[in-house]
Amino acid sequence: MTDQSDTAHSPTLDDKPPVGEADVAAGLAEVRAQIRRAAEDNERDPGGVHLVAVSKTVPAEGILPALAAGQRLFGENYVQESKAKWPALKTRFPDVELHLVGPLQSNKAREAVELFDVIHSLDRLSLAAALAKEIERIGRAPKLLIQVNTGDEAQKAGVAPGQVDVLLSECRETHGLAIHGLMCIPPAEDPPSPHFALLARIAERHGLSMLSMGMSADFPAAIQMGATHVRVGTAIFGRRAKRG
Ligand SMILES: *Cc1c(COP(=O)(O)O)cnc(C)c1O
Repeated sequence: MTDQSDTAHSPTLDDKPPVGEADVAAGLAEVRAQIRRAAEDNERDPGGVHLVAVSKTVPAEGILPALAAGQRLFGENYVQESKAKWPALKTRFPDVELHLVGPLQSNKAREAVELFDVIHSLDRLSLAAALAKEIERIGRAPKLLIQVNTGDEAQKAGVAPGQVDVLLSECRETHGLAIHGLMCIPPAEDPPSPHFALLARIAERHGLSMLSMGMSADFPAAIQMGATHVRVGTAIFGRRAKRG
């Protein structure tokens, strides 16, 4: 039995070299091994846990070693950055699956629907309306996940846990959108497992199969709670420069 405190905050993350200097192939191999171990420890099929390699701020040449090592699911936070990096990479690696994990402004809905295969950050009705319109217009439907603000944090994106039911039924009934799963980012200061457990309960109640939870510091705990998609950046690509 793994002690939760072992997995909640990996002490090695702060020691990671910065983006550009990290050994991407080694980081990826290590993360894959940890995913396999966490799945097996919890009697889950490792094939049921998908690694989304979060490559925000990483230039194309820094992503190539991950592609060479067979990684095909990638996560990005910013639509403009993704548009600059990915179309060229996708011509070389057409089976790449791109995930938008960062917040999405409604006025970027068109570009997001054109570029991404999965959008993890649907959290309000106005965005659902914008996405529905573009999906209809473009004839391309990314999978959609509702982001849940499990910690009810004032500044954080995501719908409050008590509002998921309403948003879900409005997405489905008002806009005819298929919703595939849920995503959360636990508050930095909390132990993450109760947040992952809450997200898993809400998903189960609604029969949603995709559970996007767990980042570099806590993905083994998320796998224990049923994550189907873990979003890992730093442990693969190195430390990002702080923004702003
Ligand atoms: C940046 C980011 C990640 C990856 O975080 P790491 O701690 O670098 O693994 C995952 N999910 C979201 C939503 C992010 O913004």
